[in-house]
Amino acid sequence: MLKNITDGFSHIVQKITKKGRLTETQIQEGIRSIRLALIEAEVNIEAIKKFIAKLKEKALHQEIVKNVQAGDMLVKIVHDLLVETLGQEKISLNLKESTQITGVLLSGLQGSGKTTTLAKMAYRYKNKRDVLTVSLDFNRPAANEQLKILSKQAGVAFYDRGEEKNLKKIVHNVFQLAKRNAHNLIFFDTAGRTQIDEGALAELTEIHRFVKPDETLLVMDSMMGQQALPVANRFKAAVPLNGLIFSKFDSDNRGGAVLSVKEVVGVPVKFIGVGERIDELDEFDPKRIAERILGMGDIVGLVEKAKEVVDEEEAKRLSKKLKQNKFDFEDYLAQIRQFKKMGSLSSIVSMMPGMANKINPENIDEGEMKVTEAIILSMTPFERKEVIYFNNSNSRKMRVAKGSGTNLLKVNKVLKKFFEMKKMMKNFQNSRKMKKVLTKMGMNESDLKKISQKMEKR
Ligand code: GDP
Repeated sequence: MLKNITDGFSHIVQKITKKGRLTETQIQEGIRSIRLALIEAEVNIEAIKKFIAKLKEKALHQEIVKNVQAGDMLVKIVHDLLVETLGQEKISLNLKESTQITGVLLSGLQGSGKTTTLAKMAYRYKNKRDVLTVSLDFNRPAANEQLKILSKQAGVAFYDRGEEKNLKKIVHNVFQLAKRNAHNLIFFDTAGRTQIDEGALAELTEIHRFVKPDETLLVMDSMMGQQALPVANRFKAAVPLNGLIFSKFDSDNRGGAVLSVKEVVGVPVKFIGVGERIDELDEFDPKRIAERILGMGDIVGLVEKAKEVVDEEEAKRLSKKLKQNKFDFEDYLAQIRQFKKMGSLSSIVSMMPGMANKINPENIDEGEMKVTEAIILSMTPFERKEVIYFNNSNSRKMRVAKGSGTNLLKVNKVLKKFFEMKKMMKNFQNSRKMKKVLTKMGMNESDLKKISQKMEKR
C-alpha cells in the first residue's frame, strides 16, 4: 500500500535528518528529491507544482528554532503539507438524525469494487443504523442476486426488486418498506459500465433524480492511478458527488491518485477499501495516511519541542547516571528543570497518545515548578533517596515545609506529583512515540526500563 511513495519519502527523510543544519543547497536538493518521489508516485503534475511551491515558501521562511535541526523542520513541513494535500480532516458519511431516512447512492465503473464496497458500508453502519440495501443495476441480471448474497453476509436487510424494472416504482416501494420497517439508512447500488459513456451517465443522473440521495459516493479502483481522476470528474459533472471511496487501496503501490484527488477533483475521499473481506473498509484519515507515507507522524512536532530546549549534555549525564542505576530525587529535580525549560509541559503531554487526559495542566505550571524545586532543595540527601520513607514521616515533611517556606499541603502535593511522574514514566516506557523522543535525547530502552523500575520502587 503506497509502497513506492513511502519508500521514496523515507529515503529522503533519512538523508535530511542525518545532516545538521541545512544549507540553501541542501534544501534545494531535498526539494528536488521530494519532487522526484511525487513524480514516481504518479502524482498529478499540477498537484506536484502546488506542493513544491508551498514547500519552497515554507522551507525558505521556516522559523529558526534553537537546537532544532533544519532537517527535522523540513520533515515537519513536508508532513503538514502532505496532510493538507490529502484533505486535512477526516470526513465521514453525513448521516441524518436517526428518526429520518438517510439515502446513500453508490456509483462507479464496473469492476471498481462498487458492490463489495456497498456491502462493506452496510456492514460498517449496521450497528449505528437500521440498514437496507437495494440494487438499481439493471444492466447485469446477476447484480440483484449478488447484492442479496452480500447483504446476507453483512447481516443487513435487502430489498428484492425481483423482475420489476420500473425505477420510479422500485424507489417508491423501497421508501415505503423503509418507513414500515424503520430502516433509516438505505444504500442504493447502481449499474457500472466497463467504459464511461454518456448513456451510463444519463442513467445515473436519472437514478439520482428519483432517489434524491443525501450522499452520492463514487467508488474508484485505486489501481487505476491517475486515470481515475478524469473519470471522477465526469461522474462529478453528472451527479453532485459528496465523496469518493478508493477501493483496493491495499493493492495500490503508487498513491498518486490519492495525493492528486483534492487538487484535481475537489471532492473529499471518505473511505478506502483495504482488502476483500467485508470488514476491510477504513475511514480515510489524511493524518494517518501522511504518517504512513512519511513514517514519522506527529513525533516530528514532539521532537521539535523537545529539541528546542533539552540540554543534550544534561540528557547524557542523566542517561549515564541511569546506566549506573543511580537515579534519585536529585535527578528527578534535574528532570523537572528540563521539562520546565521546554516551556509548556502540558502541550508536550497533550501530544502523547493517551496522556492528555491523565495529566492535569494545573499541576505543571511555572509557579508550582518553583515550589517543587524549593521543597526538594530543603530535603536532605537521605530523604531525596528514600522517598517512601520521607512520605511516611510527618515530622520530616513539616521540617521541609518550613525550610522551603511552604506548608504541609504543598509538600504532599509535590510527593503526589512525584508518584504521578513515576506513573508517567511507566507509560512513557510503553509509548512507542515517547521511546523515539527519548532515543533522540540519548537514552535507550534499557535506560527507560531502569528509570521506571527505579521509580516503581520508591
Ligand atoms: P463492481 O463491479 O464495481 O460492483 O465490483 P465488485 O464489488 O464486484 O468487485 C470487483 C472485485 O474487486 C471483487 O473481486 C472484489 O472482491 C474486489 N475488491 C473490492 N474491493 C476491494 C478492496 O478494497 N481490496 C481488494 N483487494 N479487492 C477488492
